[in-house]
Amino acid sequence: MVMDLNKCLGCQTCTAACKTQWTNRSGREYMYWNNVETQPGRGYPKDYMDYNAGWDDNGNLKSGGIPNVPEDYGTPWEYNYEKLVQGADKTLKPDVEPSWGANWDEDVGDGEYPNSYHIYLPRICNHCTNPACLAACPNEAIRKRESDGVVLVDLKICEGVMACISSCPYKKVYYNSSRKNDEKKIDGQSEKCIFCFPRMEKGLPPACAKQCVGRIRHVGYMDDEDSHVYKLVKKWKVALPLRADFGTMPNVYYVPPLSPPKFNEHGEVMDEPRIPLSFLQKLFGSSVERTLETLKVEMDKKSRGENSEVMDILIAYKHSDMFKV
Ligand code: SF4
Ligand code: SF4
Ligand code: SF4
Repeated sequence: MVMDLNKCLGCQTCTAACKTQWTNRSGREYMYWNNVETQPGRGYPKDYMDYNAGWDDNGNLKSGGIPNVPEDYGTPWEYNYEKLVQGADKTLKPDVEPSWGANWDEDVGDGEYPNSYHIYLPRICNHCTNPACLAACPNEAIRKRESDGVVLVDLKICEGVMACISSCPYKKVYYNSSRKNDEKKIDGQSEKCIFCFPRMEKGLPPACAKQCVGRIRHVGYMDDEDSHVYKLVKKWKVALPLRADFGTMPNVYYVPPLSPPKFNEHGEVMDEPRIPLSFLQKLFGSSVERTLETLKVEMDKKSRGENSEVMDILIAYKHSDMFKV
C-alpha cells in the first residue's frame, strides 16, 4: 500500500472502516489495527517508536517491550446514549474517565504560531518483508503468505506469549485476553491487521483503502509494473517506508508531505519550509529531501499544464485505478 500524506484529512474514516469490520467486538475493542495519528506526537500506542524493537544493524532481533491497556493504548468507552434518551442524564459523557487514547494529542503538533505544523500519519501493519513479529514467535505461529505477502497470526498455533508484540517496532500486533484456544487450553492470543485478505481474495481492496475519503491509498503488487504502487515506489521513487531504520522492510510506503512556507515576524512569507526537514528525515530517512524535490518538480510541471504521470496518479482521478489487487 502507498499512502499520500499530502492528501490525508485526518478524518478517521479508514479507522472506522477497519473497526466496524474487524475490531468492535470479542476483546478487540481497545485495538485500532488502522489508526491515524498526529505527528509530531506520541502516536498509538503511546511512544511506540521508543520501544527499541525491530532489528539492530547486525541483524539481531531486539526485545522491545509490551504496551499496556489503559496507559499506552487507552481504555475503550461507551457513551450514556440510553440515559440521555430516557432523560436521566442531560449531557453526553463517557462511562469511564479517559486519560489517553488513540490520537489523544490530535492536532497538537509542534512549532510556534504562526509557524506551527503537524501532519496526519495513518498506520496499519506494514506486512514487512523481514517481519520482527514472525522472527520473534517461539511457536512459529506467524506466517507471511507466499501468494501476496500478507503477514498473519495462525490462531490454531498461537499460545499468546506476546513475543511478537514486544518485537514489532510499529506495535501493530495486539493481545486479545478474551480469545481462547480450547484445544491448546490457551487464554489470550495475539491478533493483528489481516490486510483484509478475505476481501482481497474476492478482488476487493482492503476496507480502509476503499473507504478512504481523501483517496490517499493505492494498493497493488510491487512486481506489477502497471500498478500505482510500482510506479510510485520503484519508477518515480516518491514513496518511502516509515522508519526503515527499524529493519523490518515495511511494505506500506508514504508519499511525504510538502511543506507550506514559514512566516517572518512581519508576517511575510519566507523561502523556508515550515515542516523541519530533520523531522521528515527521522520518519522517512535521508532520501526524503530528494523525494520532496521530485514532487515539487512534478507539481510545477502539472501547474504549467504539462504532463506529469506522478501527479496524475496522486490526484487519483478514477477510484478504481488506485487498486490492482
Ligand atoms: Fe509484523 Fe509489525 Fe511488520 Fe506488521 S509491522 S509485519 S506486526 S513486524
Ligand atoms: Fe483493517 Fe483491513 Fe486496513 Fe488491515 S487492511 S487496517 S484489517 S481495514
Ligand atoms: Fe486520511 Fe483517508 Fe483515513 Fe481520512 S480515510 S484519515 S483521508 S487515510
